[in-house]
Amino acid sequence: MSMNSQGRQTRPTDDPATTHSLETVSGSRGLLQREDLIFEIGSVDKTGVDLTEPVGNRSRIGDVKRQGRIGLPGLSEPEAVRHYVRLSQRNYAIDLGLFPLGSCTMKHNPRLNEKVVRLPGFANIHPLQPQATIQGALQLIDELADWLCKLTNMPAVAMSPKAGAHGELCGMLAIRAALEARGEADKRKRVLVPSSAHGTNPATAAQCGFTVHEIKASPDGRVDLEDLKTKIGSGDDVAGIMLTNPNTCGLFERDIVEIAELIHEAGGYFYCDGANFNAIVGRVRPGDLGIDAMHINLHKTFSTPHGGGGPGAGPTVLSEALAPFAPVPFIVKGDDGYRLVEHSGEGQAAESLGRMCAFHGQMGMFVRALSYMMSHGADGLKQVAEDAVLNANYLLARLKDDMSPAFDGYCMHEALFSDAFLKGSDLGTLDIAKGLIDEGYHPMTVYFPLVVHGAMLIEPTETESKAELDRFADALGSVARRAKAGDASLATAPHLAPIQRLDETQAARAPRLKWTPQDDDARQAAE
Ligand SMILES: *Cc1c(COP(=O)(O)O)cnc(C)c1O
Repeated sequence: MSMNSQGRQTRPTDDPATTHSLETVSGSRGLLQREDLIFEIGSVDKTGVDLTEPVGNRSRIGDVKRQGRIGLPGLSEPEAVRHYVRLSQRNYAIDLGLFPLGSCTMKHNPRLNEKVVRLPGFANIHPLQPQATIQGALQLIDELADWLCKLTNMPAVAMSPKAGAHGELCGMLAIRAALEARGEADKRKRVLVPSSAHGTNPATAAQCGFTVHEIKASPDGRVDLEDLKTKIGSGDDVAGIMLTNPNTCGLFERDIVEIAELIHEAGGYFYCDGANFNAIVGRVRPGDLGIDAMHINLHKTFSTPHGGGGPGAGPTVLSEALAPFAPVPFIVKGDDGYRLVEHSGEGQAAESLGRMCAFHGQMGMFVRALSYMMSHGADGLKQVAEDAVLNANYLLARLKDDMSPAFDGYCMHEALFSDAFLKGSDLGTLDIAKGLIDEGYHPMTVYFPLVVHGAMLIEPTETESKAELDRFADALGSVARRAKAGDASLATAPHLAPIQRLDETQAARAPRLKWTPQDDDARQAAE
């Protein structure tokens, strides 16, 4: 029996009636309510509003008028609210606990950001409003751009890309435009990408019409310089390199300056994937390392809620060589205030690659990111990187005896383990991840990066306290020890979650996304 420091019981005894095998009449488990599909709890005959049928309005939509009933379920307002709250309780959230996903930087989102972003002057404006009426918003974007340029020591930044991958597209399109301007776009077609790269890197290069050539990893998890030199070859067909730093093994590419020199000598450009900027913000300026373009995932490094497909923002800093090709619109400051340069091919945008999206980017993300930066200050941002690296190394040290660190030595902001400690066992990385759910944690990133067998990538971020890191390490360490001891129950974990183990291949390949009505009446209505 577990007790707290005042001698009160904190965990049930081993009485079988209190274990997970207990069936309840309601289907609920404790305070976690059972919840069916909205189609099953609502009814097409029911409505949540009490409005009289409109009369005297002639339809102006002619023969596109709906013929039958739409078949949507009706619920009262409290039923609808409960439905979504109950569903939300089945989800894991950063406000609920540590989110160990590596390469995602899931950190606490300060409430101050949310307060600032809801100020009417930011929240209630429209992108088509006359620019004279949104000078404050334009100033905010310009100030954020200035912070990004200073933090990276880069001369220019494209603000409009809407996610990391979109920023990669922006940077690679700028590289293509620069090669076109040099008259070398036809012969420089090869882009070099390390084997540990995030999938978006090769995908982006291919999308821009380049061919992707993989660079091997060295035994210590970094770019193999000799292989890089071989892959560059004579160099006159190389467009550039796409490299993540710190890389997706959570390691700093210590040869990065030499890598930049090799690429530039060959006449290519250096794209840096900045998704892991959290580990070096305030400590290292990518512009000092010789990079030409780098996206910054505002929704990772500078907080702002993400995951589950939430909005992102991927401003992309550009070197002097690439700055002329930056996308429109961009902001210029004149005597009469701020102005958006909207059209490529003219004036300051003579060589612009064009537009990345309809408007200027993700305003809400801009406000949150600047609020985050200003509330931390220069010293606070530096501490973010230091604490993130410290926390990851603490987890690495706490777990190194129970699991197998993928590489020797210290890591940056994420700790990477392989499944070597499970050699000879029937259990694997997936079982560890599922076992962690029973302990109340979202699993870490698994099977990525591909260069490490059965990879488990853990990024605690700077926002976790030592107590929370200990709680997590206790949980994961115990799952790892159970797996090493051959605890077969892990093969069917999770046991305590609302949904047990899914056939994930089936779920991905043959998802059932459509609800089909059961009774004839409802079916007719839906058809
Ligand atoms: C998250 C991530 C990306 C993609 O960023 P999105 O904002 O999700 O598009 C690219 N590279 C790395 C290394 C990442 O971690």
